[in-house]
Amino acid sequence: MNPLLDFSGLPRFSEIKPEHVTPAVDELLAAGRSTLAAVAHAAPTWDAFVAPLEDANERIGRAWGQVSHLHAVLDSPALREAYNANLPKLSQYWTELGQSEALFTGYKKLRASSEFAGLSQARKKIVENALRDFRLSGAELPADKKKRYAEISEELSRLGAKFSENILDATNAFSLTIEDAARVSGIPADVLQAAREAAGKDGKTGWKFTLHAPSYMPVMQYADDRALRETLYRESVTRASEFGKKEWDNTPLIARIVELRREMAALLGYANYAQVSLEPKMAESPSQVLGFLDDLARRARPFGEHDAAELREFARAELGLSDLQAWDVAYASEKLRVKRYAFSEQEVKRYFPEDAVLAGLFRLVEALYGLKISPAKAPVWQEDVRFFDVRDSAGALVGQFYIDLYARETKRGGAWMDDARGRRRRGSVVQTPVAYLNCNFSRPVGGKPALFTHDEVLTLFHEAGHGLHHLLTRVEDLGVSGINGVEWDAVELPSQFMENFCWEWDVLRHMTRHVDTGAPLPRELFDKMIAAKNFQSGLGFLRQIEFAEFDMHLHSDFDPAAGGTALQLLNEVRKRVAVLPQPAYNRFPNNFSHIFGGGYAAGYYSYKWAEVLSADAYALFEERGVLDAETGKRFRDEILAVGGSRSAAESFRAFRGREPSVDALLRHNGMIAA
Ligand SMILES: [Zn+2]
Repeated sequence: MNPLLDFSGLPRFSEIKPEHVTPAVDELLAAGRSTLAAVAHAAPTWDAFVAPLEDANERIGRAWGQVSHLHAVLDSPALREAYNANLPKLSQYWTELGQSEALFTGYKKLRASSEFAGLSQARKKIVENALRDFRLSGAELPADKKKRYAEISEELSRLGAKFSENILDATNAFSLTIEDAARVSGIPADVLQAAREAAGKDGKTGWKFTLHAPSYMPVMQYADDRALRETLYRESVTRASEFGKKEWDNTPLIARIVELRREMAALLGYANYAQVSLEPKMAESPSQVLGFLDDLARRARPFGEHDAAELREFARAELGLSDLQAWDVAYASEKLRVKRYAFSEQEVKRYFPEDAVLAGLFRLVEALYGLKISPAKAPVWQEDVRFFDVRDSAGALVGQFYIDLYARETKRGGAWMDDARGRRRRGSVVQTPVAYLNCNFSRPVGGKPALFTHDEVLTLFHEAGHGLHHLLTRVEDLGVSGINGVEWDAVELPSQFMENFCWEWDVLRHMTRHVDTGAPLPRELFDKMIAAKNFQSGLGFLRQIEFAEFDMHLHSDFDPAAGGTALQLLNEVRKRVAVLPQPAYNRFPNNFSHIFGGGYAAGYYSYKWAEVLSADAYALFEERGVLDAETGKRFRDEILAVGGSRSAAESFRAFRGREPSVDALLRHNGMIAA
């Protein structure tokens, strides 16, 4: 039997082969289409009309979810081929559904029926969302425009996948093996050990460096050899650009993607693509978002300018770098941080072995929400992937999750949570949710446990926050259970919320153990970390605002017909927002997969937007005690459990008792008095 067609339990990862993909997709899409045909004639009730489609589409989503998960974490030429061959079919199917007049009519009839008033809040929301999404996917368009809309969607989904692949290919194509020990001076021992093992795998001596984060970042931060930093920096920021292989150049893809999105917006009757993107979001208009960003930029600017001036002066006086360059910034920052706070990230990292961190995370979740997390068995895609059960205090299964922690060549960069299965009720049976947590941390080397930087611990907590949002839902209908149906710009609330705990002594001290001595994190070192927390927060703020403004302008008031390019637009935004220089060859847009290869188009602002919500939510824990179980219960009940069954604005008000305020975020970043 094709393992992709087995929905009785967990995905059968050890058995899934690239040749299973096409037959499974074809069979499921055929079943989806016949369901579509059948419900078109059904009575417009939930059970006859919505439920059968939900079943068919869930099977498609779950099977394809496994394929795209494997494509992201265990890429191979055969799988990539199968993925790319089937992606347009999926896109075509969802477009058909989104444009089906019969479905649109059915939802409109259900909305107008007497049954509607008696539906649960979740089901009402699902119907309303469906009607909105129909309009946004062109259901009201005349036939010729519908056809064009479908062509645009398909081309956009192909270009988005190609955009990300180009980055991965360009990243993998570069490596630098250094034989001269003098050139690796300053780089931490564990990074060198990994680099030596990597060179050894190629049958070489010396140290092999790549553009993957666990190799690239430490070089930028610690390598004393300025030329080495410059080489890696240049290679990294010119990936997938005209400076590399022509077939990996993302420049024409960017222009085409922007053009297609503009055309799509015009078809739908909007002035620009940003308006389309904001329709299902919490923010109301591009100008509201730009106003929000301008306000934050204005508040952060003096702090950013101060940070930059201080860094330049330090680099000149102490490091002999009279012309601070982009490839010096991380290096000089680390030296300044060490000098000022007398500790390094590497020193901190010695206290965060993987087992202590995971145990600490689990204990926190157990304490806040009255749960129990324990290891469990499931087929996995890679031997070092682990799997866990989450149970409530009575021992009932709440959900399950996989953790895939380490970077490897076959995995795409970054860290992310994805859902393998959502919570839903079918008759008397509740299907429990299952999540994937994926990171790109350094694997264990030299027989020692993997060690995480504090930043990596934050990343892990962040993804765990997304996971909890998915796993702790109580909603019983797929369309709005867990993270489903949650507004994009509010979806980072539970994740960024979790990061706050990584700055709490009562949490942190229980999740540290020095890798050599076994000692917990000393209070003195923690105090230094806290003092250093807002180090260069102005610079960090401005960088995020720069990306968000670029994205929002690109998708609202930027007109490619006027002759400008995305790169020129970015440079204009940088003139207003950025305070540190960048070489002219930097091709950041070519690597901005969030907005070109992912779903963040006209949505990058949502990180800062949601940070306002998460900081303000956490402030209630600061007021009541950070491990206060009652506040934890309230957070679970009002934010996590409700998923997308009501608007994020309502959920926030229910938890906080008032509208969100930016004060807590500014205070947490040292930009307002505590
Ligand atoms: Zn996130």
